[in-house]
Amino acid sequence: MLRVPLCLSAVPRSRFLGKAMRSLDEFAREKLGVLERAKLRRTPSVTTRAGIWAERDGRRLLSFSCNDYLNFSQHPEVIAAAVEAAGLYGVGAGASRLVTGNHPLYAELERRLARLKGTEAACVFGSGYLANTGIIPALVGPDDLIVVDELSHACIHAGAKLSGAVVKLYRHADTADAEALLTAHRSGKQRALIATDGVFSMDGDLAPLTALSELAQRFDAWLLSDDAHGIGVVGGGRGSSFVNGAAEVPLQMGTLSKAVGAYGGYLCASRAVIDLMQTRARTFIYSTGLPPPVVAAATAALGLIERDPDYAAEPLRKARAFTRALNLAEAQSAIVPVIVGDTEAALAASELLRDENFLVVAIRPPTVPEGTARLRFAFTAQHPDAEIDRLADVVRRRVLRR
Ligand SMILES: *Cc1c(COP(=O)(O)O)cnc(C)c1O
Repeated sequence: MLRVPLCLSAVPRSRFLGKAMRSLDEFAREKLGVLERAKLRRTPSVTTRAGIWAERDGRRLLSFSCNDYLNFSQHPEVIAAAVEAAGLYGVGAGASRLVTGNHPLYAELERRLARLKGTEAACVFGSGYLANTGIIPALVGPDDLIVVDELSHACIHAGAKLSGAVVKLYRHADTADAEALLTAHRSGKQRALIATDGVFSMDGDLAPLTALSELAQRFDAWLLSDDAHGIGVVGGGRGSSFVNGAAEVPLQMGTLSKAVGAYGGYLCASRAVIDLMQTRARTFIYSTGLPPPVVAAATAALGLIERDPDYAAEPLRKARAFTRALNLAEAQSAIVPVIVGDTEAALAASELLRDENFLVVAIRPPTVPEGTARLRFAFTAQHPDAEIDRLADVVRRRVLRR
């Protein structure tokens, strides 16, 4: 035997570090130091969830920081569907959907999504983030214009950037500003897209979709609404385009990872648009299909939403009980922000609530604009009314101090 086993782990790693590797580590450490000093360093805490409870650092806390609005991620029917699918089809899809990853469960999920949203067709992506970074560049390019609400989710901004189109941000929910941008920049561009969250993820308010769809008509622009926090929660569970009658939104995207309780992103649109996505959206083509259990779980959860729209109305009802108790602007979705301003103050407020056994994570820049660090409360169907009263009381006394 000539081969001698090398025990690399016994040798200090630094002895092998070349110059480039040292500079890489130095870069990472320096960057972390800057973030640390600004209280902006983030690390994931190990969290075990059981319904509305979260266990962290050995403590059991009532969580208001989870997007599982209908608590479907742990619903017995949803779990059973996932278990059955794993038994039938295995855990992974094995390839991208255009190769061999398009297992039989996808068709049913896409049929149900299209039915819920009232569109001809639907297409499921690996996640909401992958959906937007695939959809937008498949529709517009360097000769085109995108007009985006400034507070839209990071993946809309990423998709817009990837497309190479001219990107103009309008002031949050300000259709007059969007109109001014379209007036100034639409001519000379081939295609135009207006993109917005339907329910804003860190503010909980609704986009002015009816007014935006009128603008879209006038300027021949395509309206894309990201309904990650709308599906399953507002508009009878059908989402934000269905809140005040039905707004005409030709591109309705969203996620299966929040109220639907599973994972994945989707686009509901016309047959032609969906066919185009399946052949041109790079995140659809070059990423592995979703695991069969995840697709089965999402399908089961959509069935529950369709069957019981009253249950889907619960998170909003709970959020409104909270805003009423605190005299805040009435909640329009399951999300209620309490803006603290300073990053350190937001972290301290989160700590105060933890003393009272509530888990409410502080949201800091760059997730929200500088100077608007906040507590973000997410209400779910299962939160007991009495606990919401107690939470409101604690927030009034210890955070708002009134
Ligand atoms: C969470 C979220 C996404 C991303 O969805 P994932 O499926 O988690 O990748 C996209 N858009 C908005 C508005 C979101 O809140």
